[in-house]
Amino acid sequence: MNAFAINTLGCKVNQYESQQIRELLEQMGLTMVLTADSPDFVIINTCCVTRSASAKSRQYIRKAQKLNPEAEIIICGCLATAQLDELNDIDGKVHLIDNRRHLAGRLKKIIKNKITNQKTHTYQTHQPKDIKTEIPSKIKCKNDLDGICELPLLTCFKGHTRAFVKIQDGCDAYCSYCIIPKTRPVVHSISAEKVLRQVKNLVNAGHKEIVVTGVFLGAYGQDTTIRKRWSDGRNAKLAELLDKMAAIAGLARIRLSSLEPADVTERLIDTFCRHRNIMPHLHLSLQSGSDAILKKMRRQYDISEFKEKIDLIKSRLDRPAITTDIIVGFPGEREEDFQQTAALAKEVGFAKMHIFSFSPREGTSAAKMQDAVTNRVIKSRSAMLHNLGNQLGRDFREQFIGETDAVLLENGRGRICGRSKRYFMVSVEGDGFQCEKNALVEVKLVKNTPDGAVGEFIRRID
Ligand code: SF4
Repeated sequence: MNAFAINTLGCKVNQYESQQIRELLEQMGLTMVLTADSPDFVIINTCCVTRSASAKSRQYIRKAQKLNPEAEIIICGCLATAQLDELNDIDGKVHLIDNRRHLAGRLKKIIKNKITNQKTHTYQTHQPKDIKTEIPSKIKCKNDLDGICELPLLTCFKGHTRAFVKIQDGCDAYCSYCIIPKTRPVVHSISAEKVLRQVKNLVNAGHKEIVVTGVFLGAYGQDTTIRKRWSDGRNAKLAELLDKMAAIAGLARIRLSSLEPADVTERLIDTFCRHRNIMPHLHLSLQSGSDAILKKMRRQYDISEFKEKIDLIKSRLDRPAITTDIIVGFPGEREEDFQQTAALAKEVGFAKMHIFSFSPREGTSAAKMQDAVTNRVIKSRSAMLHNLGNQLGRDFREQFIGETDAVLLENGRGRICGRSKRYFMVSVEGDGFQCEKNALVEVKLVKNTPDGAVGEFIRRID
């Protein structure tokens, strides 16, 4: 048997690409197994967004080497692409794919070599680590480079209820804390035809919810993520794509992964209002509630625009869930900057806040900034914001207690739960209720809990 395992770190885009790798390898006749089940190939799709993500990637590599000394270990993803020096302490022979454009080709070659060698019983040593990489800035940016790594479109999203579909990749905005413009410098979009074909495949495979994913979703159809370079500063292409996606028969739910305030336009909100299968949930990255800090972060919005877009969303959608990311302790963050973040969070009433403690990422301009906030202060601000986030989440959910909601069940063992329309977790109970993973059920929300809600099963609605 030729078997492979994939270990994935990092964001939804990485997870999507791991599924593409799976499709490619299955097309070549290989079978996916767990890393502990002695695969012939172990692929580590790495992440380097923070120092700890890099460390975790290295940990996965070492663990795979230890568990599978005979396997071909293949390292790809962001760490291999942009922070090669952080892999210098990896001993042993590995295949390093440091350029996404060569991912499919190199994978095929490694696998064919190994299979051929097995058949002829000759052993050929692995390629040594190649630590030369193409300078990303030399890659020309252009649209519709979806064939860039020649990985196949997805026919299913194995092991997951919700399927992620990447529609856009790359960023050249260079927010001062972010390494992504170095790991994914080529700004490009997947053609609507390919996106829609893939969504239909996934619906046919039984997926009921699609999460539309990209590095910078609002730049769909553009060849830069710098808004002032867009011809009219606006972009209707994402809304146009969603209109077509929402019309696909059998697609029960669409969710967007992340947007910036300027991506929220009347046109986009019209699309949300027009289609019942687009969930009333927007993830808008705030990062800081202080204009001074946003400026140092080089974000492309200010607080007044953020608030304006929140008002627009709330005026058009029924009690939408607005979730966000916040970075605590960015260099130069004073107590009053932090208090502005906390005050804005309360004003918006975020349904969920993802809080990140700032840690300098080598290779970014923020890593060289003065006025570092001490770890003690970061810890205490982060704890305060976590408490506030929990309270705001609870307050948000409270307004739905007593109402009915639709829940997409995610697990069939132990606690039966799934996501509501507004993305909070609902634990489903009921006499004679049989849980089936991936079932869409109607529940009555009866209780608010610290981490979600409890719903009583009413009926299946799929
Ligand atoms: S917009 Fe900023 S935070 Fe987002 S990927 Fe680009 S550089 Fe990173």
